[in-house]
Amino acid sequence: MADLHEYRARRDFERTAEPAGGAVRPARGNEWPKFCIQKHDASHLHYDLRLEAEGVLKSWAVPKGPSLDPADKRLAMRTEDHPLEYLGFEGVIPQGEYGGGTMIVWDVGFFRNLTVDRKGFEIAVADALDEGHLRFWLEGKKLRGAFALTRTSGADEPREKWILVKVRDRMADPERDVVGEEPGSVLTGRTTEQVFAEEGWGS
Ligand code: MN
Repeated sequence: MADLHEYRARRDFERTAEPAGGAVRPARGNEWPKFCIQKHDASHLHYDLRLEAEGVLKSWAVPKGPSLDPADKRLAMRTEDHPLEYLGFEGVIPQGEYGGGTMIVWDVGFFRNLTVDRKGFEIAVADALDEGHLRFWLEGKKLRGAFALTRTSGADEPREKWILVKVRDRMADPERDVVGEEPGSVLTGRTTEQVFAEEGWGS
């Protein structure tokens, strides 16, 4: 179910600088797929986790952002698939438009699918998402290590609820508040406040 119809239907590309999609080729062969986490200061501050699969970015809005503490269960609301071009999107979405507010690329990198069946065979990302459980290794600039996403609501609900947790590994660190300690963009170093101060609501 890789489809940008909902993404495009929600947006007016005459008004928002967000990409319409369709210009970037997906990861192939033995390339690791990409991921990003965007900090999005919209009507409610949240962090958008996006994982490349099936030529799009599978997406979740995580109100509290990721945690390095395996005891933390972070609510992750599934949102519509986004185009691959969204990996580098940073800026101000106009007021009154869908997602209106400021967005920075909080982390970016590659991920590796760790989801396996009982016999140890890999389950493809798209199939794992259909089944409601995905385990993956993030290789970002801020985040490294294994994480898991587990669906807690029915797959037929309009907005699926998932839980994002840090898997217990050497990269887990209950003492660190990674979201609080590293607020800036990995692309430009800017905070959401600085981006808004520079760009405002635009034209
Ligand atoms: Mn968002």
